[in-house]
Amino acid sequence: MSFKALQLHPTLLTNTTTLGYENPTPIQAQAIPVILKGRDLLGIAKTGSGKTASFVLPILQQMQTPAIRKRNRLPKVLVLVPTRELAVQVTEVFKELGLNLPQPVKSMAVYGGVSINPQMKALYGVDVLIATPGRLLDLQRSNAVELSKVKTLVLDEADKMLNLGFQKEMEEIFGLLPKSRQNLLFSATLSHQLTGLHKVLLTNPKIIEIGNQVDEAELINLSGYFVGDDRKGPLLRHLIKAQNMQQVLVFTSSGVKADKVAGKLSKNGIPALSIHGKKSQSARLGALEKFKSGALQVLVATDLISRGIDIQELPYVINYELPRSPKDFVHRVGRTGRAESEGLAITFVTREETAHFKVILKKMKRYMEMIDSDLLDF
Ligand code: AMP
Repeated sequence: MSFKALQLHPTLLTNTTTLGYENPTPIQAQAIPVILKGRDLLGIAKTGSGKTASFVLPILQQMQTPAIRKRNRLPKVLVLVPTRELAVQVTEVFKELGLNLPQPVKSMAVYGGVSINPQMKALYGVDVLIATPGRLLDLQRSNAVELSKVKTLVLDEADKMLNLGFQKEMEEIFGLLPKSRQNLLFSATLSHQLTGLHKVLLTNPKIIEIGNQVDEAELINLSGYFVGDDRKGPLLRHLIKAQNMQQVLVFTSSGVKADKVAGKLSKNGIPALSIHGKKSQSARLGALEKFKSGALQVLVATDLISRGIDIQELPYVINYELPRSPKDFVHRVGRTGRAESEGLAITFVTREETAHFKVILKKMKRYMEMIDSDLLDF
């Protein structure tokens, strides 16, 4: 199947070619016709599957019908995302794919952690608004934006958006939207929140499920080390140096720990930065950009970053500490070995965590050869 067969606008076809997309990915091939027909959709596909373009392309196409465009504060499309990083990333895709369209589409990201005034000003004339829930409500309450004319609602990382942490804000937002609209939900996993809530949100939805997380995780090389907490730092440095690892994403379970690990690596001559919820927005974006471009050798992150962020063909992921849930483990190791390129995910396990780790492996249906770090010389 080609993009042309999807009957997309010629400018959209040019833009996909410019971005190096040769053919639609499976989620794109299936979702684009459904969205163009105006149907509701529940798309189960992980980050890396091309799911962003699968809603961006048809939305841009829908906005090409000539209309008298008033400049106002009434977006037609609202995309809700759980993190600032994802807001920026999705907006970039709207801008790149929307370049030079005859009916220009103004897309814009709004998120917390930065000053609200510039966002209020810039919202004038917005067509597509990509937002995190809290900041969106702040802007709405200040009359900087009105949601009564939203025709299409997208929930990216819908399982996250519909979980308890966002529940109140989401309910308030749903109350501000017109009842008649197109709803597009995308999620990497089909969780309980989703099965319950999609019934409320979606009308006669088309459900598209691409791949299976566990199957995809099988493509990743996994290896594990038994190591005590006190030896984790030296083992990490040893592995990075001995294997000359160049782009390494390290996961810790807290921001404090991420700062510590990054600090220690830097002190030992391995350029590293940390990224987590307590960092400023500019520090988070700066670190991510440096890491993506290859200028930064190690990024130490909490689970916040394992969802939704697309870093292509990341060669190494190291679980410095185990996540609590198997789902987070899949999200973390899913950052590596994408798009048919091989990846290695290394996990540090303390003796006390052995039982918990076995549960994770069982859920993933994977066996992992464990290496006893006491037997290594470092
Ligand atoms: P996503 O799943 O939306 O995070 O996208 C993952 C990555 O795939 C992004 O870096 C996109 O640029 C890339 N991508 C999206 N669609 C295609 C396509 N049809 N062909 C090749 N790459 C694509």
